[in-house]
Amino acid sequence: MSEHLGERAVVLGGGMAGLVTARVLSDRYRTVMVVERDPIVGVTEPRRGVPQARHAHALLARGQQVMEELFPGLHGELTANGILTGDLSGDLRWYVNGRQLRQADSGLLSVSAARPALEAHVRARVLALPNVEVRERVTVQRLETTPDGGRVTGVRVARYEDAGEPESISADLVVDATGRGSRTPAWLQELGYKRPAEDTIKVDLAYTSRFFRLDSDPFGTDLAINPVATPGNPRGAFFGKFPDQITLLSLTGLLGDHPPRDHDGFLRFTRTLSPPEIYQAVRTAEPLGDIATFRFPASVRRRYDRLRRFPDALLVIGDAVCSFNPVYGQGMTVAAMEAAALSEHLADGEPRPLQFFRQINPIIDVPWEISAGADLGFPGVEGPRSLKVKLGNAYMARLHTAAQLDGRFTKAFFRVAGLVDPPQTLMRPRLVLDVLRTARRAKADPATRPTDELSDAPKGLPA
Ligand SMILES: Cc1cc2nc3c(=O)[nH]c(=O)nc-3n(C[C@H](O)[C@H](O)[C@H](O)COP(=O)(O)OP(=O)(O)OC[C@H]3O[C@@H](n4cnc5c(N)ncnc54)[C@H](O)[C@@H]3O)c2cc1C
Repeated sequence: MSEHLGERAVVLGGGMAGLVTARVLSDRYRTVMVVERDPIVGVTEPRRGVPQARHAHALLARGQQVMEELFPGLHGELTANGILTGDLSGDLRWYVNGRQLRQADSGLLSVSAARPALEAHVRARVLALPNVEVRERVTVQRLETTPDGGRVTGVRVARYEDAGEPESISADLVVDATGRGSRTPAWLQELGYKRPAEDTIKVDLAYTSRFFRLDSDPFGTDLAINPVATPGNPRGAFFGKFPDQITLLSLTGLLGDHPPRDHDGFLRFTRTLSPPEIYQAVRTAEPLGDIATFRFPASVRRRYDRLRRFPDALLVIGDAVCSFNPVYGQGMTVAAMEAAALSEHLADGEPRPLQFFRQINPIIDVPWEISAGADLGFPGVEGPRSLKVKLGNAYMARLHTAAQLDGRFTKAFFRVAGLVDPPQTLMRPRLVLDVLRTARRAKADPATRPTDELSDAPKGLPA
């Protein structure tokens, strides 16, 4: 008897979620086919299907760990290729409420790789697997099912650029990893199933990014300078160091306060950020390439876990299930964790879709609570604010204030934000007491008091 669960699994979409999914399916299916609209083999530049790749991307610490399990030696391979890595809270300079958090090693890695480079390394590892193949430049049109619609049997695809003859690809399992624009909700409806309900948090966020060649060194030994958007300082940025004096500056503005796309406007926005060293560095730096913008209206969580009926042999993963506000850097990590959960799920035999969706629910819950909870701290973001959210945000503000004085809190925060430690670790009574005491001390000191408390005009808004 074959040890495989089936002859062929087909993964729709060759982005990060599709790649990690293909990796785990290759252990269980005789062959795995990745169907992707873009040309992707050997591609190391941003591509049409992943426009977010032109903006800062960080793989959270938990994502690093899972990726290393899925692709042993990946970290070594990245560093051997000149990609810079360092400690998430020891080698990155984080600013919250206009003040720098005290740096302290967390033991967790941060990789300073452009997203296309990271994806290219992961893709090369996946496509090197003997039973994985890619069909690129092909768009998925619809699912194919048994006559009663109870089981997915394959997909209908067509060449993308020249709209060639449609073709059927049969499959024992289809996994939708086509991202936020996934058509599974519509396909379900066409087949007579319910669409999943959607939880949304409207943030009206935009990223505007540009590469620069620096003529000064604002980083020293640090890997990045990141002012985090907070209600008092709503403008944020990710300013990451790459080899050869190259940097990527991604500006973020929410609730319609979008960073401009023209050079002068871009610089003006940069000037309003709390760490002055970012503006000082890019002011005289050489701009490289165009300015890229990405608009992100809302975080969307599709509640497949709440459906009662779902076709057999179909799964959904990655952004197609939940697309998080990107400023928290969670999407790739969640995709990797979901793929690891899929591997465990398949260890028990044939995929059971509704059970799988319930299995990945706790994986999504924590980052969703972190990102949606923090977003609801901005008065302009619509949504119900439970007591838990209000208390959580009030406590996090104190923790950040305390972290200006004591690196222990910076480390504890990033272990949770990096999805390594559960949020409850920040609620241990002893830590809470320490946080409150230290925050009080920091607030009494004008050198560490949050900038929004020093003046009526919040820093980070246009002058
Ligand atoms: C501005 C921005 C910044 C971000 N920063 C971070 C970060 O710092 N850290 C982090 O972890 N995450 C970040 N994310 C999120 C991250 O990019 C995604 O969560 C992650 O890449 C997983 O996406 P995915 O593979 O599910 O979907 P996608 O990346 O959207 O990939 C979907 C793939 O499917 C293909 N496709 C779509 N439709 C079809 C079709 N019909 N037929 C064939 N192929 C199709 C597309 O071409 C694409 O290759 C960011 C997102 C944005 C928008």
